[in-house]
Amino acid sequence: MNNRSIKRSIPLALAVLIITSTIIIITIDNQYLHESKKKEGEITEDPLYLDVIKYGANLKFKKIPAPLLKMNSTHPRLYLTKEKITKLRKLIKGLYWELWIREKTWVDKWLNKSPQDVYYHDPEEMLWQRAIGNMIPHFAFCYLMTQNEIYLKKAKEWIFYAINLPKWGPYPDLAKAHLLYGISLAYDWLYHDLTLKEKAMIRTRLAHEARLMFLASIKTKKYKTMWWHDAYLQNHLWVDMCSLATAGFALYGEIPDAEIWINQAHSKFLKILDSLGTDGASHEGVSYWSYGMEYLLKYLDLARELLECDLFNNTWLKKTAYYRLYMSLPRSMWKNSMTIVNIADCPMRDWYGPDYILRKLAAEYRNSYAQWLAYELSRTGMVNPVSGWLNLIWYDPSVPATPPYNLSTMKHFDDLDIVVIRDSWKEENILFVFKCGPFIGHNALKKFNYDPGGGHVHPDVNHFILIAYGKWLIVDDGYLSKKTSQHNTIVFEINGKEIGQLGEGSMWFKGNEVIKDKRISAIIRAESNPIFDYIIGDAYNIYPDTIGLKKFLRHIIYLKPDTFIIIDEIQTTKPLTPKWLLHYKGTLQKTEQNTLTLTNNDVSLRIYIIQPHEFEYRIYEQTGEREGGRTKKLNVLEITPTQKTDKIIFIIVLHPAKIKEKHPTITEIHENGKPGLIIQYKNRTKKLLFNLTRKRKNDRIFKLIGIKEPINTYNFTRELPSLEPSKN
Ligand SMILES: [Zn+2]
Repeated sequence: MNNRSIKRSIPLALAVLIITSTIIIITIDNQYLHESKKKEGEITEDPLYLDVIKYGANLKFKKIPAPLLKMNSTHPRLYLTKEKITKLRKLIKGLYWELWIREKTWVDKWLNKSPQDVYYHDPEEMLWQRAIGNMIPHFAFCYLMTQNEIYLKKAKEWIFYAINLPKWGPYPDLAKAHLLYGISLAYDWLYHDLTLKEKAMIRTRLAHEARLMFLASIKTKKYKTMWWHDAYLQNHLWVDMCSLATAGFALYGEIPDAEIWINQAHSKFLKILDSLGTDGASHEGVSYWSYGMEYLLKYLDLARELLECDLFNNTWLKKTAYYRLYMSLPRSMWKNSMTIVNIADCPMRDWYGPDYILRKLAAEYRNSYAQWLAYELSRTGMVNPVSGWLNLIWYDPSVPATPPYNLSTMKHFDDLDIVVIRDSWKEENILFVFKCGPFIGHNALKKFNYDPGGGHVHPDVNHFILIAYGKWLIVDDGYLSKKTSQHNTIVFEINGKEIGQLGEGSMWFKGNEVIKDKRISAIIRAESNPIFDYIIGDAYNIYPDTIGLKKFLRHIIYLKPDTFIIIDEIQTTKPLTPKWLLHYKGTLQKTEQNTLTLTNNDVSLRIYIIQPHEFEYRIYEQTGEREGGRTKKLNVLEITPTQKTDKIIFIIVLHPAKIKEKHPTITEIHENGKPGLIIQYKNRTKKLLFNLTRKRKNDRIFKLIGIKEPINTYNFTRELPSLEPSKN
C-alpha cells in the first residue's frame, strides 16, 4: 500500500468506524430504551401500584407546587442542583476545606470495603442494611465534588448490591427506609452517570419499596398497618416518612404515584410538628433525638425546596439545639464519642452526627451556640459521620460560633420538666440532671389519648443524675427493660413486692397506663439565683392507685457551688415501706454514724442521711435486663425507715469533692419547732430552716438564715390541674 492509498483509506476507515459505532450505539440505546420501557411497563404492572392509586386517591396535589412544576426531568434536585454543585466545588477548595477533608478522609476509608462488610446477624430487623443506605450518598457526594470515577464505581457497587438484595428489611420500617433514602438520593445525584438500564433497575426497585412503605403507613384491610403509622413522637415514623418523601421527590415526573408518597409523608410531618412540645427537649433521650432530628431536618429541607413549604417556624425546633447543648457532658469527659448524659433509652453518645444537625439548627435559627457545639464536637472527633456530607450542605459560615459561657447554668425544659444544673460553663465541675415531667411532656399528654411514641421513656419521675469533677457518681440504668427501681427515686414495698411508677414492667415503657387517666407528674417550682437553684417535683399522681399515695414531693436544693439537699415529703393512706434509692458508680462504704462515702477514682461523694432518724440501709447489686436476654449489673444504695409509715420525710445531703478535699460537717438543728441544718465547710457556715407546714405545696420549703434574699434569674411555678387519679 502506497502513501496515497493510506491517506485515502484513513478517512474511509474512520467513516466506517463512525457508522459502525453509531449503529452499535443506536442498537444499544434502542435496547436500553426497550429495556427501560419494559421496566416502566413493569412499574405500572406492579400490583402495588394500583393499590397505591386506589388508597392514595385523596393524596394528590390540589395545586402542583411551582418547584415541581418547573422541574420537569431536572436532576439533581435533592439538596443539590447543578448550580449548588458548582458553588460547592469552589468552596471545598477554600472556606469549606476543613469540612471537606474530614468528609473525604472518612469516605476514603470505605473505598476498600464492600457492602458485605456491614452485615451482622439481625433477622428481626435486618438493621445492617441501614449502613448500606447510609454509605451510598457519601460515595455519590464525593463523586459530585471530585468527578473521580472511583467514587462513582463504589456508589454503583453498593447501589446494585442493595438492588439485588431479596428484601429491604423484613417489613416496612428502618432498614427499608435507609435504603430507600440513600438510593433515592444517589439516583437523583448520579442521574447523568447512570445508564438507562441502570436507571430503570433502580427506579423499579425504589418504586416497589416506596409503595410497600406507603401501604404500611395507612389503614387498609389488605395490608398490615405498621405500629409506627401514628407514632408522631417516635423516631421510626420520622425516618420512614422522610425516606418515602425522598423517593417521591427523586422519582417525581417519572413515576405517577410518587405524588401520593410525597403527600402522605407531608401530612404525617405536619402532624409530627404539631405534636412536638414547647421546650425543645426529647423524651426519647439524646441518641434518639439525633436520629429523629436528622430525618426531620432532612425532610423539612426538601419540603422547603421542592414544595415551597417552610415548616421551620416551629417553637420546639427553635429551642432544640439547647437540649443537645445542656445535655452535653463536661468537655473534659468527652472520649470515645461519650459526650452526653443518658436519660431514657440512650447510650452516652450520638448515633447520628450531631455536627451537621447542629450546623443546620445554627443556620436556620442563627444559633451561634449550636454552631460552637458542632465545631467543638467535630474538632475533637466526637461525631458519628453517618451523613457527614450534610456538613457541607448545611453549614452557614455567616453564623458565628459562640461558647456557652454566658448562658444560664440552670436550664429548665418546662414541657418534659427536665432540669439541668451546672456549677459553671467554664469549669463544668458539677453536672446534675433532674427529671419529673409526664413521659411525653405536658403538651403531648394533653393532645393524645393514646401513646404517640413513648416506648423509650423510663419510669423515672423524680430521678436524678450527678456527675462531678469528671466522674459519674449517681447514674441512670441505661437501655434496659423498664423499672422504677432502677432509678434514683422512690419505690414502695407492699406484701414483699416492690411497686414503682406507672408504665414500668416491660422492655418498652407502657405509656397507655399514664395516658389513660392523663396522670400528670410535674415540676411545680424552679428557681435559680447566684446562691442556690431550687426545684420541686410532684410525683404523687404517677404511681398506681394500689399504693394509696397522697403526697410525693421531691425538693432539690443546690447550694452553690457543690452541695445538694434532697428532701422528700411522702404520705400514703396506709403505713408502707418507701425505699429511697440511689444507683452509683464506684465503691460505697459507711464512713460515720449517718454518712456513707462513694468513691470513684479521684472523686468522692459524701452522703449524709439526716432524716429519717431510724433507718436501715442496704448496698446491693441489682440485675437489669437488656434486649435479647442479656443483663447489666447495677450498684444500689437503698435507704428505708425501720418501721412502716404513712408519713415520712427524707432529708439526704450529697456533697461531691476531689478526693484530697474535705467534706462539710453537717448538723441537724431545731429552732422554733422547725428542723434545719448547719453546714460548716471551709471556714464558712450556712444555716437553713425548713418550713414543712407551708401553705401551698409549691411554696419554698427552706429559708437561708443570715443571707439576703437573692434575686432570681429564673423563676417558675406551676399549679397542677386538679386531675385527681381515681384513688381507691
Ligand atoms: Zn433510666
